[in-house]
Amino acid sequence: MSFEQLGLSAELLRAISDQGYINPTPIQEQAIPVILEKKDVMGGAQTGTGKTASFTLPMLQRLGIHANTSMSPARHPIRALILVPTRELAVQVHDSVKTYGKHLTLRSTVIYGGVNIDSQIDIVRSGIEILVATPGRLLDHIQQKTLTLTKVEILVLDEADRMLDMGFMPDIKQIIQLLPEQRQNLMFSATFSEDIKKLAGKILQNPVLIEV
Ligand code: AMP
Repeated sequence: MSFEQLGLSAELLRAISDQGYINPTPIQEQAIPVILEKKDVMGGAQTGTGKTASFTLPMLQRLGIHANTSMSPARHPIRALILVPTRELAVQVHDSVKTYGKHLTLRSTVIYGGVNIDSQIDIVRSGIEILVATPGRLLDHIQQKTLTLTKVEILVLDEADRMLDMGFMPDIKQIIQLLPEQRQNLMFSATFSEDIKKLAGKILQNPVLIEV
């Protein structure tokens, strides 16, 4: 199986080949076509399996090659929200978004706690389509009314088990309530506890289960 066969656009294939990737990993092979079909996914995958690209590539494709230039940049709504447990993962996932999206014009940023919120506010206000965030800091931004989530089309929960272990369940529930009901949901977790299954039951609709 090649990346071409997965149905990815020329711009994404170019970014993949810039990275020197030859073949998709098993989770990429299984998840990319399903996500392109707009289905919900529950992915069981550890770090190192290529899971980040498995959701980032089809997410970028679904958002389209170009940002909507008929609107001023500041009015671009957030269309994809990726929630992660830690600052380190947030930075890493955002780096992947930038790497795979380098031939597209979609705008993205990353927000996390433990640093001054003001510079993050300026970037969020400038209008971005893709937001990578830790849950607590995202709620801080929402309280300060610097962003809204009413136009989110794709929600990703990455390392959901770690987010629950770190006590983010109430924050996640609060965030979910602010999203439109019609959206695609992608959840990734290395383990499947009862709590993870419960969260999946709440968030995902007829998910395709992919385990590698
Ligand atoms: P992840 O599991 O998302 O943390 O990715 C682990 C590492 O694998 C990252 O350094 C990626 O750059 C790399 N990677 C992802 N997909 C591929 C691929 N198809 N071929 C080679 N390397 C890859």
